[in-house]
Amino acid sequence: MSLVPLLPLFHLFNRKFFESSLTQRSIPMLSVRWSDGRLRKTAGFYRRVSNRMGQTKNEIVLSRPVLEYLPQSATESTLCHEMIHAWIDLVLKKEEAHGPNFHERMNFINEVQDKFQVTIRHRFPIPAQPPRWFGECPNCGLRFPYKRRVQNAACRYCCDTHYGGNWHASCMLSYIPALKES
Ligand SMILES: [Zn+2]
Ligand SMILES: [Zn+2]
Repeated sequence: MSLVPLLPLFHLFNRKFFESSLTQRSIPMLSVRWSDGRLRKTAGFYRRVSNRMGQTKNEIVLSRPVLEYLPQSATESTLCHEMIHAWIDLVLKKEEAHGPNFHERMNFINEVQDKFQVTIRHRFPIPAQPPRWFGECPNCGLRFPYKRRVQNAACRYCCDTHYGGNWHASCMLSYIPALKES
């Protein structure tokens, strides 16, 4: 799967879920971009960066290596998650991580559409070394690389999407040996 352009999605979500509060005269109050290949620990983040002159800018960065091979709904859910952080910071001007404002907006977004679910955690397994196993989800067919077989591991994507983030037996991965490249 190729990477979707993030700016059109940002504008769409801004209108649908944030009352267009993340733009001023149609100009985004922050930048949204894909990471390079090194961001493997998280699916995305929102941050404020300052340069040496003391100027600040805000940005959302989504992980190319984590999201590249997942369905587009994983990108949409991650982008929405980070947009809630941006909204709390830039519009509400509050210091809050995953507190009451975050939950309220997340629940609202999850209620008004069913294409994807925004969740608190959004980490997808990505190995640092070549995988020896692939865990395959019987539900959605996605394959996740693993260094070793993890007992009772379930598809994070399906658990988040269909079971509110709870582990569910129907998404338990079955393991297939990864073929060594010679
Ligand atoms: Zn978060
Ligand atoms: Zn799945």
